[in-house]
Amino acid sequence: MNQKTISHTVEFEGIGVHSGEHSRILLHPERAGTGVRFLVKGQYIPANYRYVLGTDHATVLGKDGASVSTVEHLLAVLYILGVDNLTVEFLKGKEVPILDGSGYHFYKVIKDITLDLGIEAQTLELRNSLEVRNCRAYIRAEPSDGFCALYRGYVKGILEEGSAEYCGNAKEVVFARTFCYEEEVELLRKKGLAKGGSLKNAVVIGDGFVHNPEGLRSKDEPIRHKLLDLLGDLSLLGMKLKGRIFSYLGGHALNYAFVKSLAESSLSTRATSSCVSTP
Ligand code: ZN
Repeated sequence: MNQKTISHTVEFEGIGVHSGEHSRILLHPERAGTGVRFLVKGQYIPANYRYVLGTDHATVLGKDGASVSTVEHLLAVLYILGVDNLTVEFLKGKEVPILDGSGYHFYKVIKDITLDLGIEAQTLELRNSLEVRNCRAYIRAEPSDGFCALYRGYVKGILEEGSAEYCGNAKEVVFARTFCYEEEVELLRKKGLAKGGSLKNAVVIGDGFVHNPEGLRSKDEPIRHKLLDLLGDLSLLGMKLKGRIFSYLGGHALNYAFVKSLAESSLSTRATSSCVSTP
């Protein structure tokens, strides 16, 4: 598979779901070998696991005092479209706009402007299985001829168990919006998060029902969103991946631990079993 960029600069703007601040970003084309990177206040931050600063309800990247947050939905769309060379410049704010809470708007714009750079992309080919675990949650990777990611989990009061798989069909995941449980809202606000969250950009799940008047876009929308998050976090590997990934109840923290383990291990079979962080 060849490296890709976009044919011209495009702009997105909107509120940041956690900061509540208005953000404006430009996506600029880049040459092969540049990678995906963020530019904020004159500082470049590569979209790479080495620069992960935080994983609490969003993925935060930082370098030399500068940081950008909620990068995962945009990164998931770039990963799905194979766009691996691009600069995301922040003209305002430092959180990627949440838009409707899904990857849909990014996908709709970027899918028509991808540009093949004619140079082979770097691919990490899994030769052995690998697993990271945090209590009940785990992510496992196995060798495969192509790339597939599967997520299994549940939606409290809505869906006892559900799974979703992405093997190259963007329609499986790009529409799925971010979500939270009603009882989490106060805690999120106390942590200084979700200041920009509303029913326009997130699904809020009550006791057996959703607060959004339009309902869910699919019964398993939250499961599909977790899969979208996984793809975005996987992109922090900084290269394509050949392997089959299975996540059970994984979240940003475990996704990060998995990518780090994948990148830094010698790809021999290993497992971690300590409960090191919250899911
Ligand atoms: Zn998300």
